[in-house]
Amino acid sequence: MKVMKFGGTSVGKPERMQQVVSLIQKNTEPVIVVLSAIAGTTNILTEISEEIAHGDRISAKQKIDLLEKKYRQFIKALLSQSASLEKANTILAEHFEFLNIILKISFSEALSKDILAQGELLSTKLFSVYLEEKGVEHVLLPALEYMSIDHNHEPQIGSIKVKLSQRLQKHKNKKLFITQGYICKNTKGEIDNLKRGGSDYTASLIAAAINASVCEIWTDIDGMHNNDPRVVKNTKAVEQMSFEEAAELAYFGAKILHPASIWPAQQYNIPVKLLNTLEPEAKGTTIVHKASGVGVKAVAAKDNIIAIRIKSSRMLLAFGFLRKIFEVFEKYKVPIDMVTTSEVAVSVTIDSEDYLKDIVRELSAYGTVEVDKKQTIISVVGNEIAKTDLIVKKLFGSIMHIPIRMVAYGGSPHNISLLVPAEYKDQLLLQLNKGMFSLS
Ligand code: ADP
Ligand code: ASP
Ligand code: MG
Repeated sequence: MKVMKFGGTSVGKPERMQQVVSLIQKNTEPVIVVLSAIAGTTNILTEISEEIAHGDRISAKQKIDLLEKKYRQFIKALLSQSASLEKANTILAEHFEFLNIILKISFSEALSKDILAQGELLSTKLFSVYLEEKGVEHVLLPALEYMSIDHNHEPQIGSIKVKLSQRLQKHKNKKLFITQGYICKNTKGEIDNLKRGGSDYTASLIAAAINASVCEIWTDIDGMHNNDPRVVKNTKAVEQMSFEEAAELAYFGAKILHPASIWPAQQYNIPVKLLNTLEPEAKGTTIVHKASGVGVKAVAAKDNIIAIRIKSSRMLLAFGFLRKIFEVFEKYKVPIDMVTTSEVAVSVTIDSEDYLKDIVRELSAYGTVEVDKKQTIISVVGNEIAKTDLIVKKLFGSIMHIPIRMVAYGGSPHNISLLVPAEYKDQLLLQLNKGMFSLS
């Protein structure tokens, strides 16, 4: 059995959704299809939710109506039979009525998650109507019945495995299953989600849970590119990389993959393939245990980073100092991305401002604290790169004239990370493209 995940743009237009069917039908083995919301939907739902939270109900209502109009047009182009159009209209009526009711209820975090879930619920239900119209036999598996997270927002892989296999057992002879990406239930039994871009994570969790032959992530680009294609023009897809390399790239900003989506596949040794719906014959990127060759594979950038420096003469020759610093971040459950130390100072980076004031206040007990916002981490990722002299020389040779705030080298043999003020990001990515890949 395999998993095929289609992202927002892959189902973003009626003709794309129709094309997904032909991609699915090429399979000889049973498949679980994971769908994202139709492109743009989650962004609009996020805006609606924020507006309701701020009491801006008029604007939220306008957005709901506009979204409904778009979906009405979408189904008209997707479906050709009146019976299926009627079914789809009923689905839209149900979900948009729900959004309109929410407008009248007082806002809560849980309600906001309900709003965000509408995108995936809609895309899968509409896709199911289309499959029915085409006479393609399938089963709709509601993710909210088996996908769950614990108190720490971590997926409950054991329970997901059990619940999913029970559901699959019920339909032993079926070859095609459709399910929602992104959405799940939390420990309170409320609707929750796996964070933005989380459909990739759903796909990899399902692949792990069913021990799939492969987890295919179908998107709008032909694989993991060697640099950020949103910034640099001349980029190329990497044919093969290791789970470690892919995880580093996803974590450090390669948007093509959700940062957490690699570990389930890695743990259960399931190959991940990144493929392009618009160019299905392209090789894409295959992610497996073994890295191919030594060298730099790709560069990625993570934005909105905050650097914090704690300077203290008390650190000199002291032990236990770092523990105290890290405990402050642990207390507020804020993960640290990069760390560098000198004899009298420690610099760390975080990617959230949520508890910044509290963290700075508590850190002040240990020394002088300086905060630099609007920073970007640029990560150079590959196999054994930090052990290869020539690569290190090339890397530092290609980043001249850019003020580097921090360098993390040696933490992993697969990654060298640089912290720069955000305004230097594009320049640095371009210089690295020239310097590391001889591409301009
Ligand atoms: P989907 O909606 O299918 O999940 P995403 O928008 O989440 O698609 O991810 C695909 C996008 O990721 C690409 O269109 C591309 O702009 C962006 N991206 C960023 N970095 C990379 C990279 N290194 N390789 C490929 N794509 C990348
Ligand atoms: N629809 C969700 C988002 O836009 C999840 C996903 O597409 O992966 O973030
Ligand atoms: Mg995505």
